[in-house]
Amino acid sequence: MKLLTNKVALITGGSRGIGAAIVQKFAEQGANIAFTYRSSADSANAVAEEAEKAGVTVKAYQSDASSFEASGELVKQVMADFGRIDVLINNAGITKDNLMLRMSEDQWDQVIEVNLKSVFNLTKHVMRPMLKQRAGSIINMSSVVGDFGNAGQANYAASKAGIFGFTKSIAKEVGSRNIRCNALAPGFIETDMTEELDDKTKAAFLASIPLKRLGRAEEIADACLFLASDLSTYVSGQTISVCGALNC
Ligand code: NAP
Repeated sequence: MKLLTNKVALITGGSRGIGAAIVQKFAEQGANIAFTYRSSADSANAVAEEAEKAGVTVKAYQSDASSFEASGELVKQVMADFGRIDVLINNAGITKDNLMLRMSEDQWDQVIEVNLKSVFNLTKHVMRPMLKQRAGSIINMSSVVGDFGNAGQANYAASKAGIFGFTKSIAKEVGSRNIRCNALAPGFIETDMTEELDDKTKAAFLASIPLKRLGRAEEIADACLFLASDLSTYVSGQTISVCGALNC
């Protein structure tokens, strides 16, 4: 028995990395999937084509998660195309690292808008359909950095820490309507985002991970599967760290 049969999932940032792994995992578990990307159309089409081999419907939408209007249009279109949204995964994210002395206002604003405002944008727009359905699971992609902080990532850490408070508040606000809201806090996962880091930073991270390896995008997708499925019907308002014990 597949864990997501008949469910519809909307996933932001599904064209690469963790989002693409979630799309593939959810398709294999029977979900029909709408996912977004910002600019990688070719990669998004390849992800959709591969996931559809599992026999489900997968559609890619070009949509900027940091735009309130575009997020509203997206949710309208997904509702028209799929009829319902059972699972929302706010996964889209970026880094614009810099030490505070050098960080520009634009670097701060972009990271907050793409990583944190997007979570408001999408959650706000799926709220009405989920309230009508009296069911839903919202999963917000935070980071262990939101908890620890990290030199050179004040903007990123602030955006990811904001997600923790948002997640708990939504869990309290709509729990009575059977809508759950949880966060995931990945550690250091092998994707394009971490590929950008220099070797010295990577080696320092690796040395501090008790499991002595980086995580794989599929391992984050496994945790998403748990939170999206009926395996977690009494789990809400929580953050699950998937970080090889980096945070303990
Ligand atoms: P990634 O490989 O850089 O992929 C980012 C994805 O987000 C892409 O699909 C990208 O679309 C999309 N995206 C970026 N800006 C967007 C926007 N404004 N609107 C819609 N989509 C947008 O990143 P990743 O490593 O998979 O990270 C995914 C999430 O996990 C992020 O929230 C990140 O902060 C979090 N995370 C990652 C790690 C890690 O170690 N990798 C650790 C902790 C948390 P395009 O392809 O079109 O650019």
